[in-house]
Amino acid sequence: MTTSSWVPVPDGSPFGVHALPYGIFSAAEEDPRVGVAIGEYVLDLAPVAAEESLDGAHVFAEGTLNPFLALGRPAWRAVRAWLNELLTVEAYRDIVEPHLLPAADVRLQLPFQVADYVDFYASEHHAANVGRIFRPDSPGLPTAWRHLPIGYHGRAGTVVASGTDIVRPCGLRADQGGPSYGPTRRLDVEVEVGFVVGVPSVLGQPVPVERFADHVFGVVLVNDWSARDIQAFEYVPLGPFLGKSFATSVSAWVLPLDALAHARVTPPPRDPQPAAYLQDAAGEPGGLDLALEVDWNGSVVARPPFAGMYWTAAQQLAHLTANGASLRTGDLYASGTVSGPERDQRGCFLELTWNGAEPVSLADGSTRDFLRDGDTVTIRGSAPGPDGARVGLGEVSGTVLPASG
Ligand code: CA
Repeated sequence: MTTSSWVPVPDGSPFGVHALPYGIFSAAEEDPRVGVAIGEYVLDLAPVAAEESLDGAHVFAEGTLNPFLALGRPAWRAVRAWLNELLTVEAYRDIVEPHLLPAADVRLQLPFQVADYVDFYASEHHAANVGRIFRPDSPGLPTAWRHLPIGYHGRAGTVVASGTDIVRPCGLRADQGGPSYGPTRRLDVEVEVGFVVGVPSVLGQPVPVERFADHVFGVVLVNDWSARDIQAFEYVPLGPFLGKSFATSVSAWVLPLDALAHARVTPPPRDPQPAAYLQDAAGEPGGLDLALEVDWNGSVVARPPFAGMYWTAAQQLAHLTANGASLRTGDLYASGTVSGPERDQRGCFLELTWNGAEPVSLADGSTRDFLRDGDTVTIRGSAPGPDGARVGLGEVSGTVLPASG
């Protein structure tokens, strides 16, 4: 891929020509449609694709990425190569430039219609810390944890785009004198990476690890908002329910897997060896070296490293379909909270403040254990690109509103 664009890209912009993430935008009173981020602009893809008679151009006039996602990997790659040419070859400037809209002038929305949503639990540091906090008298990791990627089904209908306000949920909270109903007192974030399925699979036919890139289009950043006091009371034995299902935020930009070719890393050693259907594919390593950061009201409080995740996204996809469950276009599955071994690498406030026992200080001098009304959390991420460049993921941000009623 050519490395520089005729579109001005400011230093430090997440969206150089190596990124080219897709989203859904609307401008003025017009219908929403597909855009691609470049520098501080959004390229309005539909008119350019129509003018250039690109195969499948109609998918870019849709108000969701799903029709594009369903086209499959050869089409994803062809469009990406075409975009690279449009944005790096000066001769296309006259055609393209009228369709570059300042990002500040458009509204972004949920980029794809979420089919099913699954959340995994793939960071060993996170799982061990949560075990110590929630189950201090039990062994650290659940019995199955090293044998398979543990996950649960989340609520697809409450996945919202970055920028959506989050109303503090109410529920039955774990409390000293027994459960009590009311607004959560322990509202938390979970910093995760989400994987977006483009190509469906056939019911009854598992998707092997090596077919990952044929089905998964790209990645989003995810904030799996969590009400810890509701979760702590309800989760035994069937797992998270209302403590998580009130909202899950995703970035408005979906970064194609092809933008992460330079971010591939070998995942940590697994002990015991996973079952055959979960063994890493030969060739390209399955881990991703993504640097994440958690910003709480303007203070960066943690930098979780994604490279250390025990289970890869390809293994999670193989596990998700191992019983023959089929994939649909728009399925979303998230990695689980990303935490590293150091305190400032913990991807949720439950861990970062050790369930409130060790508050963190913010730049304005205040301290926090869990989220207060009015707080804003923004998660950012980036990956190595070619020639020392960084490839940015779209940020995911949300502000907490008071409980309703
Ligand atoms: Ca989670």
